[in-house]
Amino acid sequence: MRHPLVMGNWKLNGNKNMVNELITGLRNELSSVDGCDVAIAPPFIYLDQAKHQLSGGRIVLGAQNVDINLSGAFTGETSANMLKDIGAKFIIIGHSERRTYHKESDELIAEKFAVVKEAGLVPVLCIGETEAENEAGQTEAVCAKQLDAVLKTMGAKVFENTVIAYEPVWAIGTGKSATPAQAQAVHKFIRDHIAKHDAETAAKVIIQYGGSVNADNAAELFSQPDIDGALVGGASLKADAFAVIVKAA
Ligand code: PEP
Repeated sequence: MRHPLVMGNWKLNGNKNMVNELITGLRNELSSVDGCDVAIAPPFIYLDQAKHQLSGGRIVLGAQNVDINLSGAFTGETSANMLKDIGAKFIIIGHSERRTYHKESDELIAEKFAVVKEAGLVPVLCIGETEAENEAGQTEAVCAKQLDAVLKTMGAKVFENTVIAYEPVWAIGTGKSATPAQAQAVHKFIRDHIAKHDAETAAKVIIQYGGSVNADNAAELFSQPDIDGALVGGASLKADAFAVIVKAA
């Protein structure tokens, strides 16, 4: 059976004190909680501090991005091997904020997916439609296109031991989550789309929901059969709220 994953995406937030306090709080809140995988993705500059503070606990380290290159003259970038070296496991790729503000294409994101897999790490591939695309009835077409960039170059087997995060762009940071039924319908579409190529892999792939998940709506979202946990932005910055979400999974 699939093991849900709840992952906090801290985005561009924090300082040394906040990392210290938030991880201390999370470790306290989650010390006796079992049943789902938990990860946090602090900003790159705090990954090493976070890794040390997570030592001996159950929370796993993630990162928010990666470069497609492994080394060389790529100023400001961070490679998959470096993230592995520092102890990260889950690497978020294709987040809508990177697609929008950094103009990341489906093809570039597919390359990132490949380097993360090659490094033996777990890509968390974010896909999802904008509000305009949603209103135009293009949700499935957009998700299929974003998945196909990986499927067509690497095949469906590459989704083994990976995570997909369905994040409708209109729900991210807006307080306007998809309803459990809306999210479930898209999650089922995603799983069925992969199953057309490889049913066994599709049945195993973790599909998280992301978009204004909070302590109040998490349990109902997680009760849906194809929702395997969540990628959480805003609510991951408060230990008590994040703990409620983890416990709901
Ligand atoms: C995200 O950034 O991936 C996200 C889902 O943010 P929020 O939970 O704040 O909507």
